[in-house]
Amino acid sequence: MARATGIDRREFLKVTAATGLSIGLGPFALAASDPTPPGPPRIRATRTLGRTGLLISDIGFGSSSLSDDEELVRHALDRGISYFDTAESYQGGRAELALGRALRGERNRVTLASKVQAGARDRLDDMMRALDGSLRRLQTDRIDVYFNHAVNDVARLKNDEWFEFTARAKQQGKIRFTGMSGHGGHLVECLDYALDHDLFDAILVGYNFGQDPGFVAQLTKDFDFVAVNNELPRVLGKAKQKGVGVIAMKTLRGARLNDMRPYEVGGATFAQAAFRWVLANRSVDALIVTMKSPDRIDEYLGASGSNATAAADFRILQRYEAMNGRMECRYGCNDCVDACPLEVPIADVMRVRMYAEDYDDLELARSTYRTLRRTGVRAVGPATHIEGVADVCLHCAHKACRSSCGHGLDVPSLAVRAHLAVAG
Ligand code: SF4
Ligand code: SF4
Repeated sequence: MARATGIDRREFLKVTAATGLSIGLGPFALAASDPTPPGPPRIRATRTLGRTGLLISDIGFGSSSLSDDEELVRHALDRGISYFDTAESYQGGRAELALGRALRGERNRVTLASKVQAGARDRLDDMMRALDGSLRRLQTDRIDVYFNHAVNDVARLKNDEWFEFTARAKQQGKIRFTGMSGHGGHLVECLDYALDHDLFDAILVGYNFGQDPGFVAQLTKDFDFVAVNNELPRVLGKAKQKGVGVIAMKTLRGARLNDMRPYEVGGATFAQAAFRWVLANRSVDALIVTMKSPDRIDEYLGASGSNATAAADFRILQRYEAMNGRMECRYGCNDCVDACPLEVPIADVMRVRMYAEDYDDLELARSTYRTLRRTGVRAVGPATHIEGVADVCLHCAHKACRSSCGHGLDVPSLAVRAHLAVAG
């Protein structure tokens, strides 16, 4: 079998496209296009979520934008989607309410995941109250996987109250398994800690095609972008080894709203290509994506059942990167963490801009903005909420962060855009 390393990329893609070769590359596989079978698109594969033993659809329903569209949930269900992910904070609780209404009578067909942001000093009683609220809104007596949401600080993983809370909730039958989710700059550090201390049954991590330098180096010698987060593939492999379930999110690398159709040849849309890339990583059990319309769901399901990346996929991912590489903050990167003298959490502010402009989801942008905390790296003040963080950027004269991004993001102007978007 041909090896990718050491051969010209163009030749390599030509050969695989012509012959349909499927090539193992460490944790990845590369194949020619996977033809879509006739009939309406459907989930074509279920996977086991690590040691939980839960069988879930390889593509799951992300509900961060869901407010009242029960029909959309039912469409997903009809198409075979069986994993539904939500959080108490999504759309101020309306996402859970909509899921609860739409899934009434279907509870035993689906796996439900929800989340709460439990801090380093939060108390068991408050966590239990949050869980009870989620159960009420979801109209169920149990949540299958309950995540500590957006963990980016190891201190949050050392709070004994969380473990007492989850033990009690499990005993009461309110939750079955626990997990942590994350996509911040300290993601790898937090995952390493969680895995080394065997804290969770599953993890939900920001992971996409721009985040594996080994993969990029082997296959795409003429790619002009720099992959980040060298350690993320390692830590996902470690999770797999320990039997911890791995679900990927943020797989569209920003999901910018630009039109990729002119580049979608060979039956691969950009989203399908990005999903195939993630699903080809054997350390990943499944992925979730925010679902907004029946058409998008049907498009996404074109990638279900895939365990290899098609040659045409690389070309469209490369094109996307070329168009967007200077806009998207890399998940798990925090290289600019100490660039702001006022401890503005730059990566989080970049994410706010992405939600507002690229996802076109102002509500999510605003709710994320409300949770911004100082980075704490300069001991300017307590790691608490910064009032009007982007206001600080608007009136900042020195723009000390200007050259802080090694990936070419114009941080000061993107920060201002984030502020104007949430204020507008
Ligand atoms: S702005 Fe640039 S340096 Fe900062 S976290 Fe994002 S990608 Fe990394
Ligand atoms: S613009 Fe100024 S206040 Fe805002 S992140 Fe940059 S250095 Fe900090």
